[in-house]
Amino acid sequence: MSTVATPPATGLSATELLDRAARFACDVVAPNAAQWERERRMGREAFAQAAALGLTSIEVPREHGGQGQPFSVKNRFCEILAAADYGFAFSLVNTQNVANKIAREASPTVIARYVPDLIAGRIVGCTALTEPGMGSDFGAIQMRATRVAGGWRLDGRKAWITNAAQADVSVMYAQTEPGSGAKGIAGFVIDAHRAGFVREPAFGLAGQHAIGTGGYTLDGYIATDEEMLQPPGKAFKSAMSSINGARTYVATMCCGMVAEALRIATAFGESRHAFGVPLADHQGWRWRLSEASAELAGCRLMVAESARMIDAKEDAQMIAAQAKLMSTRMAERQLAVLAQAMGAEGLRDHHPFGRHLVGARVASFTDGSSEMLLERIAAGLRKQATGR
Ligand SMILES: Cc1cc2nc3c(=O)[nH]c(=O)nc-3n(C[C@H](O)[C@H](O)[C@H](O)COP(=O)(O)OP(=O)(O)OC[C@H]3O[C@@H](n4cnc5c(N)ncnc54)[C@H](O)[C@@H]3O)c2cc1C
Repeated sequence: MSTVATPPATGLSATELLDRAARFACDVVAPNAAQWERERRMGREAFAQAAALGLTSIEVPREHGGQGQPFSVKNRFCEILAAADYGFAFSLVNTQNVANKIAREASPTVIARYVPDLIAGRIVGCTALTEPGMGSDFGAIQMRATRVAGGWRLDGRKAWITNAAQADVSVMYAQTEPGSGAKGIAGFVIDAHRAGFVREPAFGLAGQHAIGTGGYTLDGYIATDEEMLQPPGKAFKSAMSSINGARTYVATMCCGMVAEALRIATAFGESRHAFGVPLADHQGWRWRLSEASAELAGCRLMVAESARMIDAKEDAQMIAAQAKLMSTRMAERQLAVLAQAMGAEGLRDHHPFGRHLVGARVASFTDGSSEMLLERIAAGLRKQATGR
């Protein structure tokens, strides 16, 4: 793995951070992504390098050792990294989200226990809502939290969790009062090295193993009172509060993958010849790239507007859902078109087409499936019509 110069990584400007992200994507992520996929594993060894560049704490407040940047900077960072590899980018941003959540919402003791190590890339974090028996319907989780002296006993399973294959710490949601739905859900900080935490082997998928998807069982796990991150009544809202950001950066990541595929295909069209001329001289060939470029530009405008609204603390529910719906669909369609434009060459694994295609498939589930986005948009339309 190539090395990257590492001057101090605190108090960096947005421009410095994004320049570093571009270099990191080019020097570390792009050259290693195919290998991580061949070995079906996370690129954990690159976390410390990202940390040394300040890329593990973009939104984390400065008083907790982070860069204190607004959402839009993290969003742009996600696009840059996903252009190299969706799975690695998603894994890194999920760890960063855990650092941010704990830094903003946990007690000083819990913050001190995890945030410095997360920011330094020494440990990995995950956020666990989904369970083997439920995904879209978060209010129906079965993970059970039972009151015991000095804390909570936790029993149940989580599945389909990014980074769970190696996570050291998890922000996790459980039901304190069965039958009460969203109202009874509480949030906890879970230590993967404590008795009662049983990790499942990483899930074998069609691709994108750098995401580190997996699950875990809690079997009589005891969380102290201090490790309850949000009490019942607040946890559901807290989990949902970050969803517009997550939908926006997933949409951005789709744009990043398509932009990279378009860049590679455009260059290929000049160097590869067929019937005596470069591919780009064939109208039928080049129009496909024009369509990809136009659709990408449209999605980027939606994503930019969503990020702007999140920075401005405006209600971004509609635009975030619209941006993710359109960008995931655009990516699935256009990545296939661009792969076709490459001929057989596009199948080689040093090109990202295959990984990106699976990335776009994954993106249509994470942080709200396309159907849940359609429901969110429909709710927004009805609100506009009825005021409710
Ligand atoms: C690689 C990967 C990483 C992930 N990382 C995380 C993570 O870090 N943390 C986490 O908590 N979860 C994570 N997830 C889980 C993800 O959030 C869920 O996959 C998603 O919520 C959908 O749930 P499901 O797959 O169980 O589908 P289900 O909820 O079982 O739904 C199955 C299908 O039916 C559709 N459907 C469901 N309800 C309706 C309805 N009312 N109307 C119409 N259609 C409906 C769904 O859209 C879907 O297409 C990850 C998933 C993947 C693939």
